[in-house]
Amino acid sequence: MAKVLVTGGTGYIGSHTVVELQKKGHEVVIVDNLSNSNIDVLNGIEKITGVYPLFENIDCVDYVGMDRMFEKHRDIDAIIHFAASKAVGESVEKPLMYYRNNLVSLINLLQLMPVHGVKSFVFSSSCTVYGQPDVLPVTEKTPIKPAMSPYGNTKQISEEIIYDTIHANPSYNGIILRYFNPIGAHPSAHIGELPIGTPNNLLPYITQTAMGLRSELKVFGDDYDTPDGSCIRDYINVVDLAKAHVVALKRLLNIKSKQQVEVYNIGTGKGLSVFEIIHTFEKVNNVKVPHTIVGRREGDIEQIWADASRANEILKWKAAESVEDTLKSAWKWEKALKKQRQQKEKEENEASSN
Ligand code: UDP
Repeated sequence: MAKVLVTGGTGYIGSHTVVELQKKGHEVVIVDNLSNSNIDVLNGIEKITGVYPLFENIDCVDYVGMDRMFEKHRDIDAIIHFAASKAVGESVEKPLMYYRNNLVSLINLLQLMPVHGVKSFVFSSSCTVYGQPDVLPVTEKTPIKPAMSPYGNTKQISEEIIYDTIHANPSYNGIILRYFNPIGAHPSAHIGELPIGTPNNLLPYITQTAMGLRSELKVFGDDYDTPDGSCIRDYINVVDLAKAHVVALKRLLNIKSKQQVEVYNIGTGKGLSVFEIIHTFEKVNNVKVPHTIVGRREGDIEQIWADASRANEILKWKAAESVEDTLKSAWKWEKALKKQRQQKEKEENEASSN
């Protein structure tokens, strides 16, 4: 069993990973500045696992704060680093914020690892590093294309920083996981995606539209060179994705040779179009998703899906959940959120009438 620092552990993928780590008996320390997540997530985690995680409200950009955190929580064996800004559009408007948040955080952690004897590092990367690939599916050897946004660039640069740092430090090792499109929620509906404001991603937009919170989903383009004209992505269940981190950690803790960086694609190996996702969501949940076709979204790539055979073979990891069950979990979560809102309103009304 290991003691694991999870940065960004109250976020969407982070919280699901904390659950899977705790289920395997690992001790988790979460560091999150709650800039894009909610402290209530910790209660959701406890409802599932029975363990309320250790939590520190710190920005990973704060070197001194992080140093103190390592002093307080001694003997951390590994870091899983999720904490980062992730909205593509925002990164175009605020590039320096993205370079600062995503790169300074990473550099701080890598600098603090030898100071506190931490040897293993798992990094959240993204299939965005492939751009629009010439050949599909993409393997880890598919050439990296120039980034389409400052956000994408931070992922590319971060990967390079990790390679260079680990090659210069004989006792480190690391795994870079390149995620495809994570969707869905924990089957218990105690945790899930919590977009703040208008969602950028497809699935939360679909669930909010089905719930009536948004009038209609805008489908960004039906004139792509794909069978139905809409873009194709590899949608991966978030719990499956969380489990990939647990097996990556296991590999790092057991691996004898240090100074090693490995990269894995984490996807299902299957591409689905925007229309396929909408129609499957409507069918399995028996609910309508009003939608209209609008122009292409700037910067969108036409199609991408993973060759995840490396993760299948070496990590013994494979996406297990069907897209149908994943889309059901997303809807169950949206309904749980509605209940939470109603409960809160009731409490507020009672409080104001007293
Ligand atoms: N998409 C859409 N309407 C939306 C949000 C997304 O049609 O409101 C499409 C988008 O053009 C892309 C796919 O859904 O083809 C997945 O988009 P998302 O932003 O979720 O992920 P990414 O672009 O990072 O792959």
